Amino acid sequence: MPSFIWQRIDRAPLGAEQLLGFNVLRLDLIHGLAPGNKIFKLEPCIADAKAKGFRRLLSFGGAWSNHLHALAALGQRHGLATVGVVRGEPDAPLTATLAEAQAAGMQLHYLSRTAYRQRHDRVFQRQLLARYGPAYLIPEGGDCLLGASGCMAIGEELVRQMPSGASIILPVGTGTTLAGIVASLGPAYRVIGISALKGALDTASRVQRHLDQIGHSRDRAAWEICHDYHCGGFARAPVELREFLLSMEQSSAIPLEPVYSAKALLAAQKLLAAGQLDRSKPLVFIHTGGLQGRRGFDWLSDPGSVLQ
Ligand SMILES: *Cc1c(COP(=O)(O)O)cnc(C)c1O
Repeated sequence: MPSFIWQRIDRAPLGAEQLLGFNVLRLDLIHGLAPGNKIFKLEPCIADAKAKGFRRLLSFGGAWSNHLHALAALGQRHGLATVGVVRGEPDAPLTATLAEAQAAGMQLHYLSRTAYRQRHDRVFQRQLLARYGPAYLIPEGGDCLLGASGCMAIGEELVRQMPSGASIILPVGTGTTLAGIVASLGPAYRVIGISALKGALDTASRVQRHLDQIGHSRDRAAWEICHDYHCGGFARAPVELREFLLSMEQSSAIPLEPVYSAKALLAAQKLLAAGQLDRSKPLVFIHTGGLQGRRGFDWLSDPGSVLQ
């Protein structure tokens, strides 16, 4: 059981005062090797792989993938080999993320953008496993039932700290983390996921599928996925987001990155400003980590602040 770290936002830049009083769950500060939400999804998968006798894990991601970065670190810690199937060209310069994954023992297999689209295809997966297997395949982003179940521990922490309910905001990619959190919360909680992707309109149905599979019948938290705050698409960082990130970091002393955490916090501020979030319950922002990916943004590159 990890010990969770909380921080209150007690300073915010001009124009973002709505965020004062937010309770931030700093997942970015726990599990030094693999900080953030990924470890909650990956540990149950790794345990399952080990129980089934696998010695190698295979998964998918981009060149700055938090998921592959965490998988490489955790695989190494568990003494398991890892294969990262990467969207990108092998002759592109190695990103800091992939260099560290490789240094942790991960074998990299590159796919063109077109080929990468087949990553969910069973036949294609079998071909990869025929080449790199036997290996335990973890879907991109840890988007599987075990991954979602692992994130229930985050929801249980919310119940411990805010037993009479809360309004919770977090960034969403696949929705796996949100599903696990919702699965452990009752109707006194409201969970709002801010999609970091443009047009990923099937996210809610994927979340619902995880919830159905996790089962149990009691009433659950109200939840929704907002699609209006992707800032132009995955990994896009328009000026408004950059300025928000830099000023918010400076006043709150909470490090952010543009792909997930800054987007979701900017969305929280806008939702509050528009009166779409009620303040009668404690407000929670879940910092899901991802700070290693800051290095993918030239305007942010400051290694000292990234490699804590
Ligand atoms: C992967 C990731 C997410 C998205 O998590 P999902 O479970 O895919 O929704 C959010 N924030 C950060 C920092 C991540 O690395």
